[in-house]
Amino acid sequence: MTSTTNLPAVNVHPPKGEGSTSSGFWGSALGMTNAKDFSGSLEDHEGPIEDDPGAVDQEYDDAYWHLVTNTEFLKLPLSVQNLVVSDHALTKQVSEFFKDGGKISVVDGLARQAEYDVNTKTIRIRKSILDDAEANFEDAQYAATTLIHELGHYLDKRPYNPTSRDETAEWYLHSEMLAGLYQLLHWQISRGATGVTAGDYNEGYTAMYLSYMSHGNLDQLLNEMKSQFRTHRGDQMEAWRNLYQP
Ligand SMILES: [Zn+2]
Repeated sequence: MTSTTNLPAVNVHPPKGEGSTSSGFWGSALGMTNAKDFSGSLEDHEGPIEDDPGAVDQEYDDAYWHLVTNTEFLKLPLSVQNLVVSDHALTKQVSEFFKDGGKISVVDGLARQAEYDVNTKTIRIRKSILDDAEANFEDAQYAATTLIHELGHYLDKRPYNPTSRDETAEWYLHSEMLAGLYQLLHWQISRGATGVTAGDYNEGYTAMYLSYMSHGNLDQLLNEMKSQFRTHRGDQMEAWRNLYQP
């Protein structure tokens, strides 16, 4: 898997409380962190912002020990486990997912790379993605990013009740952009190269994210991503419209 971007490695968390008002997504994604993990400066830094090594984060410690003894988590290759627990907020979120009954299912030959089944709270991941992740670090980042994306779908708790073809497409669009945005917010893992679904619009998302680091408005970022997708993926929008059932 080759990297398509050469952007600086930056690790900036969004400010707390700038969430999307439409879904409750940011409430669950950001609210659980006690602001610590998402209160980073929006300035550029030479390197990743590290947590104060002397500071005690009991919530993280608890989540860490929950994960490393959890049979669902241990289905992931060690390389991916290590990436998850390198991120405090992500560690807590994955732990919450399992405590909420979430499961991971590794499927040989899964048609998609990964998918989230809302009815069984199961993230299914194609086995080859995890096999590759054992081989090299970039593929481990890709696998972790895939997990983050599907976790983003889990965090989207909106009901599904569209009343038109366009509303149906917009519902799915919102869902995919939230999942993509959740990837971008874990930039230190996704690195932009695998931060969003591949495509010629990928670079656009990356630029939007870098711009977001200055303006700090998550809703603006989300709306820009949606607009980008509508422009470049008319085919997918139409496929989503066709899912409408009157
Ligand atoms: Zn998705």
